[in-house]
Amino acid sequence: MFLQRTLRKPIEIEGIGLHTGAPARLRFCPAPSNTGIYFVRKDLPGSPALATNWEFVKSTSFATSLTGPEFSVSTVEHCLSALTALRIDNLFIELTGPEIPIGDGSASVFLEAILTAGMVEQDQPRKYAYVTKPIYYGTAEKHAYVLPYNGLRLTCTIEFSHPKIGTQKIDLDINEYSFTNELSKARTFGFLKDVEVLKEKGLARGGSLDNAIVLDNQEILNSGGLRYRDEFVRHKALDALGDLVTLGMPLMGHLVLFKSGHDVMNYLVRKIVESKDSYRHIELGADLPDVAADSQYNWSR
Ligand SMILES: [Zn+2]
Repeated sequence: MFLQRTLRKPIEIEGIGLHTGAPARLRFCPAPSNTGIYFVRKDLPGSPALATNWEFVKSTSFATSLTGPEFSVSTVEHCLSALTALRIDNLFIELTGPEIPIGDGSASVFLEAILTAGMVEQDQPRKYAYVTKPIYYGTAEKHAYVLPYNGLRLTCTIEFSHPKIGTQKIDLDINEYSFTNELSKARTFGFLKDVEVLKEKGLARGGSLDNAIVLDNQEILNSGGLRYRDEFVRHKALDALGDLVTLGMPLMGHLVLFKSGHDVMNYLVRKIVESKDSYRHIELGADLPDVAADSQYNWSR
């Protein structure tokens, strides 16, 4: 039986916000069983809380924001990706402003904080959304599937015409080990022409070569180069794991993404929620249905 998890003790992270460039701080705080993951603005009257739920997602092509009745919080996906991989079910993420520290543009700062604080198992079993039939969302160009699988697996493919990116693909079983070693250090990336447009709009003021890979039309501008040969697709996989938290419960299935971004992930999560006959709630340790018969689904693209 897998039990729900939270942190052993609170831990704080400081840095700058990507868009404002202003100091940003968050504090991960343990939460009781069956709470879920909440952002909390301790600096606002009444300390309002916002659930990390698909209903509150306001996606852009650059990041995932959550907007509730009392506040918004932007660029949540890197922080949340570490929670998926480390199986954190219950957490209050306290903020003192609208932004999460960007760190180095990867999930490293969040992963290290959680591992430093330590995790504890709680008194209630984890409840999974266990996928029993394929679920699909797509557009002409972008495709996202969830297929039956005993575990959490992610296959992610990207295609960019840029000479330093091209087509990249990664396929991983997601757990603490694979996330730490294969995904957590992959940084976000952007193109110089887009960064200039964002800065003209007063956005991305905190963005720099210290917290993103930046490319011009031909080259990578960061003097240190890449952390992984295929760092770009690894970051997209990291983003997807962050967006998956908005499902509101852990997924047991195989997520297959082709040119997917934050917008597609949000539509896919909504599709999963609607597809009541394609998944069921289980507690791990209970008898799992045999999904071997489903393995003929052709998901490779
Ligand atoms: Zn990202």
